[in-house]
Amino acid sequence: MDKNTEKVITRFAPSPTGFMHVGNVRSALYAWLWTKKNNGTFILRIEDTDKEREVAGSVEHIQEVLNWLGLKWDEGPDIGGPHAPYFQSERLNLYKQYAQKLIEKGLAYADSTNEDELDKLRKKAEEEKRPFLFRDHRPENPPEWDGTQSLRFKVPKIKSYSWDDLVFGKLSAGPEMLDDFILIKSDGYPTYNFAHIVDDIEMEITLVMRGMEYISSTPKYLSVYEALELNPPQYAYLPHIMADGGNKKLGKRDGAKDILEYKKEGYLPSAMINFLVLLGWNPGGDKEVFTVDELISIFEITRIQKSGAQLNNTKLDWLNKEHMKLLSENERNSKIIERLNSNSISGEDDFLLKLCPVIFDHISKWGDIDTMALAGELDYYFNQPQYEKSLLFWKGKEAVEETKKHLEHVFEVMTSSLEDNFTDVEKIKNLIFDYATENGRGEVLWPLRVSLSGKDKSPDPFTLIYILGKNETLNRISGALKKLS
Ligand code: GLU
Repeated sequence: MDKNTEKVITRFAPSPTGFMHVGNVRSALYAWLWTKKNNGTFILRIEDTDKEREVAGSVEHIQEVLNWLGLKWDEGPDIGGPHAPYFQSERLNLYKQYAQKLIEKGLAYADSTNEDELDKLRKKAEEEKRPFLFRDHRPENPPEWDGTQSLRFKVPKIKSYSWDDLVFGKLSAGPEMLDDFILIKSDGYPTYNFAHIVDDIEMEITLVMRGMEYISSTPKYLSVYEALELNPPQYAYLPHIMADGGNKKLGKRDGAKDILEYKKEGYLPSAMINFLVLLGWNPGGDKEVFTVDELISIFEITRIQKSGAQLNNTKLDWLNKEHMKLLSENERNSKIIERLNSNSISGEDDFLLKLCPVIFDHISKWGDIDTMALAGELDYYFNQPQYEKSLLFWKGKEAVEETKKHLEHVFEVMTSSLEDNFTDVEKIKNLIFDYATENGRGEVLWPLRVSLSGKDKSPDPFTLIYILGKNETLNRISGALKKLS
């Protein structure tokens, strides 16, 4: 079929190793965006042929990550589809059939070399300062493959392969990568190198997107396609992701976190997507905040960059805040209240709703509320603070009488104000501000603010009065006055 008109079919093919870092998920995201943009099919395939590396619960983990981010698959292990099954471990017969085709062409052979013998061959090559290639040790008369030995590919032509990578352009790599690699291991499972080729063929994958670490093995894959007389899919290899603040490729030791950690820390999935897409893709122009729908419409493979992308956690926090601002006030408030509750902080609805905007000003992700709660930064909203006398004085100047006078004035004004509960910060400001201007803003507003919060830093006194309400405000001012007498 013409490459330009064929239906786009992509896949995300994670191994169930219990971990999904930004690199894995970025591959999924790019493929998903491209598929959505082209009304194609996005397949989730679980590459579980390495039983030693498999971690229980990984498939649920992978699905939870994708579901959290909203990267819905059209075919996959849980929902099935025309290319089922979607676990490689359930496709062993298929790999055998393809292996059989290669055997019939004389392009695969049984190999019973054990690990010790392989080690010896490797050491010898090392001593002779040449790369170890199994094809240099190809047995002359291999036995017939009975499934108990490994099956090796017999690389037909030692030559250079070139291909058009959608990101890197024309790439070519040569003979040094071509070898008689293992197709099927002696335990009956195929290697990744072989299984993914068979699956990409059988699942009619048109485009493979994966990290650029696969570039060097690509001649190997192309030699198998050639042996099978089939066309490979298109490739789009993605740039490395570098650890935050360094030029080292992101690894577990350099801050590669599991994506579900970000979920726990309270990042928004839409922000995470926005963050991931910018790791190696340039939208062109200055705009950086994108909704998922916008991304689907503007995503272009040609704008994927070749150079490494830097992980930048400050950028993630900034993007997350921008995405939080896109939520409605109601959504924001209920998220904040939910997080307060999970920190065992609760209160009257009216009160919490007044507190929400203040909290919102101080966070860039919901998890920051945990940090604030843990540090006791929210305590004074819920309990009258203990006053430190010296803090009640503007600039530390022990003006007892003057400070008392100002606090008493505000106390009077508040007592005689008709409203029991203030609905508006501006109204409160109007009650106090002229007096403060006449008598010195610092002299009046500082002790007032400290009497309400007990802290050297807090929101302004009008906002605090608004949140605390009339009774509690009076309570706190008189508490501070007591401290001064
Ligand atoms: N199972 C491989 C991995 O998790 C997939 C690579 C590919 O997309 O082909 O890295």
